[in-house]
Amino acid sequence: MESNANYQVLLYYNYVHIEDPESYAAEHLKFCKELELKGRILVANEGINGTVSGTVGQTQKYMDAMHNDPRFADMVFKIDPHEGHAFKKMHVRPRKELVTLRLEDDINPHEVTGQYLEPQDFYEAMQDENTVVLDARNDYEYDLGHFRGAVRPDIETFRDLPDWVRENKHILEGKKVLTYCTGGIRCEKFSGWLVKEGFEDVAQLHGGIVTYGKDPEVKGDLWDGKLYVFDERISVPVNRKEHVVVGVDYFDGQPCERYINCANPECNKQILCSEENEHKYIRGCTHECRVSPRNMYVKEHNLSAEEVESRLALLGESMKQEA
Ligand SMILES: [Zn+2]
Repeated sequence: MESNANYQVLLYYNYVHIEDPESYAAEHLKFCKELELKGRILVANEGINGTVSGTVGQTQKYMDAMHNDPRFADMVFKIDPHEGHAFKKMHVRPRKELVTLRLEDDINPHEVTGQYLEPQDFYEAMQDENTVVLDARNDYEYDLGHFRGAVRPDIETFRDLPDWVRENKHILEGKKVLTYCTGGIRCEKFSGWLVKEGFEDVAQLHGGIVTYGKDPEVKGDLWDGKLYVFDERISVPVNRKEHVVVGVDYFDGQPCERYINCANPECNKQILCSEENEHKYIRGCTHECRVSPRNMYVKEHNLSAEEVESRLALLGESMKQEA
């Protein structure tokens, strides 16, 4: 019956008590499948966090149904138009936490969290000299795009962020600390943790980078690069005033915004890589990954052993090379 072929992607979360996450997840999965949505939703005692795709009609039905549930009546949906689904399947998973911080004392954002700043206010606060802008995401997200001048914590996963802050207190002390993340959910907890940790002036970007990029006044200004997203789109634009590329190719350091996964399934490392270098390096991040018997690139392109050898030779490597 769907006459509108346009799709959209919804990004949303709500910190609200959900009694029995296991059974809610099972029930919610059934509901999402009935609506023919695809995506990934996490459910915990502390709330819900999801990204789903579907036609405009399907996603509208979903939003209406959620808003009819008193627990989610005030839930904000960030909506991005898209040409099709952004996921292959529909998953709803029960979890202990919505974001993995594994704090010794868990933070309830309804009790303690940083001041919420709307895009316009965040934009102005960022330009104040006494401000430190702290990226609350993973390193590979930062590397594709970030706010100009933002601090990149040297961490691989979000749960290492508290330790990093404790070791690098001097960067933040005496300053107004601004935090930001994709949709805002990580900052709700992280900024709350900063407040609890004793930082006095902590604020967070309300609605995250996604909302910032949609603001009609700010137009994503002061954002460099693109925004990493956790679906098939991989990245989306933010800054509608100017586009500055900050990503660099893993192999040659040239400007690059194309993420791929290493073809060795045991590695699967996410790297920025041009199409040319993907072929040149057999989509392997190291020699070991290039010569792995399970290399997916070799399989997908049906490369003969001779072809692999000749590409390796161009890199000064060989199949028989000692690891
Ligand atoms: Zn690899």
